[in-house]
Amino acid sequence: MGHYCRICACNKPNEPFSGKWHKDHICKECSKKPKEERCAIDQENEIFGFIPLS
Ligand SMILES: [Zn+2]
Repeated sequence: MGHYCRICACNKPNEPFSGKWHKDHICKECSKKPKEERCAIDQENEIFGFIPLS
């Protein structure tokens, strides 16, 4: 299955999501991005409805 990252919008089967970010559906790589950048992407995703519910 892997994990879906809502920021880069892809499944990362081998990506070790940390517990902190896993619940937010953000991969390790994206968790390093500035908060502003993640928020901007989040807002875009909300507009287009790309955020999965689970
Ligand atoms: Zn990501």
